Amino acid sequence: MSSFEYRGGALHAEDVSLTNLAEKVGTPFYCYSAEMLRKAYTDFAGAFAGLDVTVCYAVKANSNQAVIALFAALGAGADVVSEGELRRALAAGVPADKIVFSGVGKTRDEMDMALRADCGQFNIESEPELAALSEVAASLGKSATIVLRVNPDVDADTHHKISTGRAGDKFGIELDRIREVYAAAAKMPGLNPSGLAVHIGSQLTRLDPFRDAFERIAALVRELRADGLHVDRLDLGGGLGIVYRDEVPPVPTDYAEIVRDVFGDMDVALTFEPGRRLTGEAGILVTRVIYVKESGGRKFAVVDAAMNDLIRPTLYEAWHDIDPVAQPADDAARMPLDIVGPVCETGDVFAVQRDMPPLAAGDLLAVRSAGAYGAVMASTYNSRLLIPETMVNGSQEAVIRPRTDYDTLIGQDVVPGWVTAQ
Ligand SMILES: *Cc1c(COP(=O)(O)O)cnc(C)c1O
Repeated sequence: MSSFEYRGGALHAEDVSLTNLAEKVGTPFYCYSAEMLRKAYTDFAGAFAGLDVTVCYAVKANSNQAVIALFAALGAGADVVSEGELRRALAAGVPADKIVFSGVGKTRDEMDMALRADCGQFNIESEPELAALSEVAASLGKSATIVLRVNPDVDADTHHKISTGRAGDKFGIELDRIREVYAAAAKMPGLNPSGLAVHIGSQLTRLDPFRDAFERIAALVRELRADGLHVDRLDLGGGLGIVYRDEVPPVPTDYAEIVRDVFGDMDVALTFEPGRRLTGEAGILVTRVIYVKESGGRKFAVVDAAMNDLIRPTLYEAWHDIDPVAQPADDAARMPLDIVGPVCETGDVFAVQRDMPPLAAGDLLAVRSAGAYGAVMASTYNSRLLIPETMVNGSQEAVIRPRTDYDTLIGQDVVPGWVTAQ
C-alpha cells in the first residue's frame, strides 16, 4: 500500500496534492508520508509481539528530527553512528537509554560525549576500540554497557557496497576472536559486556543470510555462556529490503519467525536497527523537467534534481521508479528516455532509457522510494542548495527542513589576505 497515489489525475501524498506542494515550496523537494512511516514501524515492531524487543531506528537512513520524533512517539529507540546523530536523536526526544551507538570508528571525544549522555549501549567493532572505551569510561567513573559486533562471515547477497558481514569487510570482530575478546572485556574497567551484535548488510531481499548469521550468533552465545560469561542482550541489526522496482522483500512476520526460531528460548533481550525498511518507501523526491532534448539519437529529460540531492542511482546504479505527477492517459505512447540532472558529471543520471509517457518542460516527476539514504546523503556539489524536506499527515503538510540559502552556502568560505596579495 502506498500513500502516494493518483487522485483526480494528480499524484497526491496522502490528501495533499503534490502539484500544490510544489507551488508552495518550489522544486526539487523531498516529501515523506507520516502514515507510511507509522505503518512501516508498526508492521515491523508488531511482528515481534510477545518477544522482548526494542526497535532502534537507524537514524542514518533519514535523520530529520521530525522523522526520528515520529518513531520515538511510537516507542522506538535510535541506532546512531556519530556524535551528530546522537545529538539529533536526543534532540528529537529519544530517551538516552534507548540509544545504541554503532559505528566502526567512534572517537574518544564521541565516546566521552555519549557516556556523559548515558547512552544505553555501545556496539564495539574492534579490540582497539574496546580498549579506548574502557579508558574513557573508567576516567569518567562510568560503566559502559557494551555488545561486541560479530563479523559472521556470511554473504548478504546484496550490492557489494552495502554488504557488511563478509570476512574482509571492515565491520565487526572476527567470529573466532569473539570468545577471547569477550572474556578480556569482562575484566576491563569501565565495561559491562552484555552480548553480541550483528548487521550483515542493507537492502536484503532474502531471509537465508539472516538465518545463517543468526544461527552463528546463537552458537556463540551458547559458547560464551558455557565459558561462564554473562550474555543477556543481542542486537540483530537492520538490513531488511524494500521495493525499488520489482523486488519481493521478506515481510516482517517471516523475518520475525526466524528470530523466534533461533532465539525464542534463549532468554535474551533483542534489539533491531531497521533504517531503510522504516523510511524508504515512505518518501519521494519531486523534481521538475527543465528541458527535453535530443542528442546522439537519444532523448533526454533534464530535471532540476541531481545526484547531489539523491545519489543512489549514481553510487549504486540503483533503480527508482519515476512517475509523472500529472497522471498520464492509460493509452499514452511511451518512449525510452534518459532522465538526467544538471550536474557536470556523466554519472548524474536518474534513469537510463526508461519507458516514459511524453514529457515536456515544466512537468513534475516523482522519484519513488527515496525516503532512505536520500536527503541524508545530499551534498552541495556544484554549489547547489540543499533541498527542502516536507512531511504530510492526512491533509496536513509541513516543511521539516527548509531549503538552505546562498549566504549560508558561500558565506563560510574564508579567503585569507595572502591569497590575493602580490
Ligand atoms: C546502516 C546500518 C543499519 C541500518 O541498515 P538498513 O539497511 O537501513 O536497515 C543498522 N545497523 C547498522 C550497524 C548499520 O550500519
